[in-house]
Amino acid sequence: MIRLNDTLTGETRQLEPIEAGHIRIYSCGPTVYGPAHIGNFRSFLFADVLVRYLRYRGLRVTWVMNVTDIDDKIIRGAAANGEDIDVLTDRWLTRFLGDAAALRMTPPDVLPRATEHIPEIVALVSTLLERGHAYRTDEGSIFFRIASWPAYGRLARLDPEQLRVGERVEADEYAKDDVRDFALWKGPKPGEPSWEPELGPGRPGWHGECSAMAIRHLGPSFDVHTGGVDLIFPHHEDEIAQSEAATGRPFVGTWLHCAHLQMDGAKMAKSTGNIARVGDVLEGGVAARVLRYALISVNYRQGLSYSDESLTAAAAALDRLDALLAALDGYREDGADDPALGSILNAARSAFEAALDDDLNVSAALAAVFDLVRDLNRRIDGRSLSTDDAGRARQLLRDVDAVLAVLPDEQEGLEPDLAALVDRRAAARAAGDWATSDQLRSELAQRGVAVEDTRDGQRWRRLVEAGRG
Ligand SMILES: [Zn+2]
Repeated sequence: MIRLNDTLTGETRQLEPIEAGHIRIYSCGPTVYGPAHIGNFRSFLFADVLVRYLRYRGLRVTWVMNVTDIDDKIIRGAAANGEDIDVLTDRWLTRFLGDAAALRMTPPDVLPRATEHIPEIVALVSTLLERGHAYRTDEGSIFFRIASWPAYGRLARLDPEQLRVGERVEADEYAKDDVRDFALWKGPKPGEPSWEPELGPGRPGWHGECSAMAIRHLGPSFDVHTGGVDLIFPHHEDEIAQSEAATGRPFVGTWLHCAHLQMDGAKMAKSTGNIARVGDVLEGGVAARVLRYALISVNYRQGLSYSDESLTAAAAALDRLDALLAALDGYREDGADDPALGSILNAARSAFEAALDDDLNVSAALAAVFDLVRDLNRRIDGRSLSTDDAGRARQLLRDVDAVLAVLPDEQEGLEPDLAALVDRRAAARAAGDWATSDQLRSELAQRGVAVEDTRDGQRWRRLVEAGRG
């Protein structure tokens, strides 16, 4: 079974679902006020690989990812554009979902929006007021009282007495009893959207939405919570405090945090302008699965540096996988099965699973796959495989791709005009017309299709695009 490194305890331990056979996962999702950058997507795709792997292992997974569709930046952005908040958030949510689909992110089972969970947020805040963990200020805001929660600071390993005020907290321009306290409910301000529940008019603070939506969709205690390391403090610290203070139950079994993505030696962040947006990268000619491979191929707890070189390396890796798949597809050999193949495939599968069981070590899992690629290429060249063997090897690659999601789609044929060129080249070769055959090969290469001549006949595959570079 998979072992994961829990940020809260620092321990690596076996993931034991609270409900047998069912893993419930919450991931902090996008704030929909602009295009997501690839650093955000590194965090989402690491959660995607986790979800895919648990399902590959036969577990039932419920994956919830929230959408923050109300916050200061959204309010400012909509005012600057002179548009309604939901027009802005719908537009950016659609864009996010498009990027996620391009990068083959599994659609979360629930994608709850903060503005559609006001009653749940209000209920949470009301409970915290009743239990003495929250208080009202004169302007109608409600704050969580950190002094009432001695465990505060455990996740981020901060001494509650020495706590420095986090960015988000500092940005709240409201009077409060203690600078460390954070807003659960923000009193109404002119020009800001406001709800009118029995708590009094206002709007939710950011931290409360994740607790309220996680509890609503996964229950008071669930198995795994993911996010980027920048969310540990104060966001996740606040989530723990307000959830556990309200429910009296442990909130999360295992906290997983994805390290930063570095670009040009610096952290990728909107605030510094050091960002690459998914749409821009793809429009620059990088195949989506190349970007996906570059983002998932390093263990989530290690910093990942993103560059043209990392994309080129990802494209080269995918090209090797594509070439092997194409070779296996076309392979025909009537001889006996290769007696070694069964144990080779089993060993590759075991090594792949052992790596992912070890705190989702994707780079080691890929190393196991590429060891197999080398071995299979040797056996194809040596004609030691049978046609059935090739099918078994191919199936293993497709099985591991249920987790990685980087291989080309199964039945992706060529466009008719390209298919016609491939056929013409086969005919030219059959007729011994080498000049025409060479000319057609270069024409196809220019149009993104590689052809190779093998003992099994002519074989084609699409070239992997790594961008303009
Ligand atoms: Zn969150």
